[in-house]
Amino acid sequence: MTAASLPIYLDYAATTPVDQRVAEVMQRYLTADQLFANPASRSHMLGWQAEQAVEQARRQVAETIDADPREIVWTSGATEANNLALIGYMRANRKRGMHLVTSTIEHKAIIDTARALEQEGFDITWLPPGADGCIQPDQLRKAMRDDTALVSLMAVNNELGSINDIAALAAVTHEFGAVFHCDAAQAVGRIELAVAAQGVDLMSLSGHKAYGPKGVGALYVKRHPDIHIEPLIHGGGHERGMRSGTLPTHQIAGMGEAFTLMQQQHIEDQAHITQLQQRFLKGLEGLEGVYANTPLPQAVPNILNLAFEGVDGESLLMGLRDVAVSTGSACNSASVDPSYVLLGIGVPRRLALSSLRFSFGRFTTNADIDHAITLIRHAVSGLRA
Ligand SMILES: *Cc1c(COP(=O)(O)O)cnc(C)c1O
Repeated sequence: MTAASLPIYLDYAATTPVDQRVAEVMQRYLTADQLFANPASRSHMLGWQAEQAVEQARRQVAETIDADPREIVWTSGATEANNLALIGYMRANRKRGMHLVTSTIEHKAIIDTARALEQEGFDITWLPPGADGCIQPDQLRKAMRDDTALVSLMAVNNELGSINDIAALAAVTHEFGAVFHCDAAQAVGRIELAVAAQGVDLMSLSGHKAYGPKGVGALYVKRHPDIHIEPLIHGGGHERGMRSGTLPTHQIAGMGEAFTLMQQQHIEDQAHITQLQQRFLKGLEGLEGVYANTPLPQAVPNILNLAFEGVDGESLLMGLRDVAVSTGSACNSASVDPSYVLLGIGVPRRLALSSLRFSFGRFTTNADIDHAITLIRHAVSGLRA
């Protein structure tokens, strides 16, 4: 396929491309003439050098969320980090309580993990968000119990772009002596993250939502006081015993570099993306029956979930073959069930089935937006006629 025939990519919330500068860093840790050694090898210099690369990335990721590098545990992604946070914490702290509070519009990596814990005998409260996709601190306060051990609420919703006030939610959690976990996979470089100031005890991060590679992520685990987590993966005792397995130096170095670039560039990235979002919305003006499911303007600017009344979302997707977009979360795109997130904020089933998520990023251009708008207007009018 030639570059000219590639679709316009408006699915940055599903994954981002690896930034060229990140790819260059990753290439230093693969082949025989480079730093390929096992970072856990203590018996030779090649091992130490690989370890240095891992520790440099640990500092880079820690700095992005204002944590201590010793509080970062490498995982295979935010899915694993969410599993480790929920299962690892609940199993290790049964004496503290068997109750977990989360919401109905979390990512599947939280929803399915909480369901698995339910099967194990834990008790889950599922908070319903408001139409704005947010959980209110007072709502959380009412759900808290003496036996609540953990609260897990996301920072930025992946389908809507809505932003929770994590500092306020963490404060309520602590009033009841429980621990606060936050899935921040979509939040890095989009909102301010400072774990200590915001009172976050556990935070899940992903490389590939921030122009880093897929297959790598991290769980921030607060120290002082230490948070006890039971490992899910045993063997070797890597990552302070919380997550064994040989560390993928190239993935980790890539995630570190990607996070540093996010930090350095977030102001310019966000300005660029806000401009794209406004151009996109302006381009759709005059097209009847288009509703924003995303709570504008309080959401992150890179995610725009729109309902096109009277148009079937799947058919619109087919009509937009040259635009890469999503009908909801990528994990659901095989099914024709309406998005549980849209239903969860009260969007009627009919409109939920008429909705698409557009998401923009660092490499999206004005020309991409203009071309996409032309194709969308054409497809929507065609389907309505
Ligand atoms: C993408 C995403 C995940 C999963 O992250 P992976 O690194 O792909 O496992 C979890 N939560 C949210 C909110 C996400 O957007």
